[in-house]
Amino acid sequence: MADKISAVKGMNDILPPDSARWEWLEDKVRTLMAQSAYRMVRTPIVEPTALFVRGTGETTDIVEKEMYSFEDRLNGEQLTLRPENTPGVVRAAIQHNLTYDGGKRLYYMGPMFRHERPQRGRYRQFYQLGVEALGFAGPEVDAEIMLLAYELFAKLGLRNVRVEINSLGVPAERQAHRAALIAYFEQHRELLDADAQRRLLTNPLRILDTKNPAMQAMVQDAPQLLSYLGEASLKHLHTVQSLLTACGVPWTVNPRLVRGLDYYSHTVFEFITDELGAQGTLCGGGRYDGLFEILGGKPTPAVGWGMGIERVLELIKEQGTELPPLAADAYAIVPDAATLPIAMATLQTLRRAGVQVQMHAGAADGMGSMKTQFKKADSSGARYALVFGADELAQNLVTIKALRDGHGAQRTQPLADVAAWAATLQS
Ligand code: ATP
Ligand code: MG
Repeated sequence: MADKISAVKGMNDILPPDSARWEWLEDKVRTLMAQSAYRMVRTPIVEPTALFVRGTGETTDIVEKEMYSFEDRLNGEQLTLRPENTPGVVRAAIQHNLTYDGGKRLYYMGPMFRHERPQRGRYRQFYQLGVEALGFAGPEVDAEIMLLAYELFAKLGLRNVRVEINSLGVPAERQAHRAALIAYFEQHRELLDADAQRRLLTNPLRILDTKNPAMQAMVQDAPQLLSYLGEASLKHLHTVQSLLTACGVPWTVNPRLVRGLDYYSHTVFEFITDELGAQGTLCGGGRYDGLFEILGGKPTPAVGWGMGIERVLELIKEQGTELPPLAADAYAIVPDAATLPIAMATLQTLRRAGVQVQMHAGAADGMGSMKTQFKKADSSGARYALVFGADELAQNLVTIKALRDGHGAQRTQPLADVAAWAATLQS
């Protein structure tokens, strides 16, 4: 036998019946986005590496060590599998001048790639749902996108998801804070680990993000960006907060919540659960008013978030949310291959009427015994078996047998009326 080939480490197959959860979630997302007039955007999975170096940021974990990059063998171009979708969406918006006639509300769902150590809730190919509201400067859109995430979690029946919010102000405020931060960290140099030593010069804000327990106390007492915010920035933050409150979204301020990149401004936020261990951030986002310019576009305010779909599904499982089992409405039993033409034509009529039908599939030499077929019908979970027996068909009849409720009840129905029967199933 030939050697087996396995999937790449950290990349998952999503198979039935689990894939039903994905479809269920995706359906909810589509409905929700339409309710707030957010429109689907799809950008390529492969982009020029430079897009992420500039748009995700040279000093981020993603660009420093997590990207799948390669050279196009044909023309030597440097390419990368997207680790996130915001740079791609902004690139597309600039390339197609998308905001020429006003703001655009967009959302995406799709695979992202990061070379991380695989563990629960952390994969090398994972899926993100995200929204990007482009061309809107006001705090009400920050609140609007946060409401979208909140509403989605509610629709999915998730409990105990916390909302943390902070403000990064504007560049001048951040510079003043950055200077104070560097001075503070220099006073505590002996406590800084190697990562922090390095970041002190490149990106001191990221030190606040540290997961090193030995640095926690020192980081807790570091100067807070919040106390460097001017009136306009505070007003922006307070408006977001009061709009969330008005819509029934509880939030807390986390002054250490940061995004270590200069193109972020004002609102940053995370949706967090304590039920998934260290991988508890379900959704992270913020305002990135500076990104369009970094990517060569005109100054354009923008705000968005990204959500890890695997983590959300993991939490749904963890919290024991039950989904309806996967089963067709009816299972078609075809005792004799000779009746396949009329059976299959009838099934098509049923499917067009909206009934989900699973047809029995036989072996190369025939359809198999009635007993086998009924067993399969039972284990399929279908509510009804449709029996296309030769004798009934000779009189233009089909037998319908209830497999679940009213177990065993059986009647015959004129073939011409199956669509009418099907209509009764929809209720
Ligand atoms: P973390 O701190 O967990 O590494 P992050 O800051 O790298 O998250 P973002 O880049 O903000 O995450 O991505 C948004 C969301 O995507 C995260 O909140 C998380 O739910 C999800 N996510 C990020 N990386 C992974 C991964 N490797 N596998 C699965 N989901 C992920
Ligand atoms: Mg990460």
